[in-house]
Amino acid sequence: MKAYQLIEWQQPPKLVDIPVPEPGPGQVRLKVAGNGVCQSDLHLIHEWTASPAHIQVELPMTIGHEVAGWIDKEGPGVSGFEQGQAAVITIAGCGHCRYCAQGWNQYCQHKGKQVGMGLDGGLAEFVLAPANAVVPVGDMDPVEAAPLTDAGLSSYHAVKRIIHLLDPGTTVAVIGVGGLGHMAIQELKALCSARIVAYDLNETSLQLAAELGADECLKSDDAFYQPMSADVVLDFVGAAPTIAGAAKMIRPLGHIVVVGRGGGSIDFTHRFMPYGATLSTTFGGSKVELIELISLVEAGHIKPHITRYPLDDVALVLDKLAKGEITGRAVIEP
Ligand SMILES: [Zn+2]
Ligand SMILES: [Zn+2]
Repeated sequence: MKAYQLIEWQQPPKLVDIPVPEPGPGQVRLKVAGNGVCQSDLHLIHEWTASPAHIQVELPMTIGHEVAGWIDKEGPGVSGFEQGQAAVITIAGCGHCRYCAQGWNQYCQHKGKQVGMGLDGGLAEFVLAPANAVVPVGDMDPVEAAPLTDAGLSSYHAVKRIIHLLDPGTTVAVIGVGGLGHMAIQELKALCSARIVAYDLNETSLQLAAELGADECLKSDDAFYQPMSADVVLDFVGAAPTIAGAAKMIRPLGHIVVVGRGGGSIDFTHRFMPYGATLSTTFGGSKVELIELISLVEAGHIKPHITRYPLDDVALVLDKLAKGEITGRAVIEP
């Protein structure tokens, strides 16, 4: 089968021909329908090292962690799936630590290798996944479902963390209307009545934000970040200028969620922050949040905005993503 593999650190991945993998105990094989391309793929290719700070990744490894497909074969000891059933792959936890017991599998104390981050990923014709990471998506087109597992779920988890602050009459700022941000706008529309102000540098992304129902769409620029204008800021970029913007916009008792890994920092002191303001990072989402998100899609409240590309175009898509030229999410169809 064809697979897009990272062979050497800091070198462009290559399209190679490898055998179709056999599912081992506890694993399921999926025929890949779609794989969304994410900023984290760029991070993995260009900045990852074999350092202990990262999940241990051995090369060569097939990349792609936003995967959907059809159940193809159950490994020994696995049951309950149907041949040809559409499903997505999420983050598997150990299942027995305190975080997993509470349903927070993405914060698992023993979180190990994940599909596309240590285990071979979805930019291939077939992929293996731990059975406890596979979630069926009903009648949904699995190509459209692929972005739900990361772009959709990571934004949904960030929204769920702060939804209790968004009573009628409040304002939420969404910085960065990319793969995650365009989903966040729809998730906010589905869950609350707060006024949504979207910020992005790209005119096409701001048009998409307006189509998705953002109340105001502004250039992501200091001139447009109004002091104390938001009860919640969701920063899907996390770079120095956007975090500074978040700190400027947040109101007393407000909450800033930094989702993007842009490397910016914040002077979180009384001198710069309004009273009662809080700040958090987030990572991924839980399995039950993924199931909630699938229900919102099935009910017609949310639709990922995707552009489809063939497997041969992964390098082109990564290049466009790095340049900020992708609107919504690019999904590769192997
Ligand atoms: Zn990702
Ligand atoms: Zn765990």
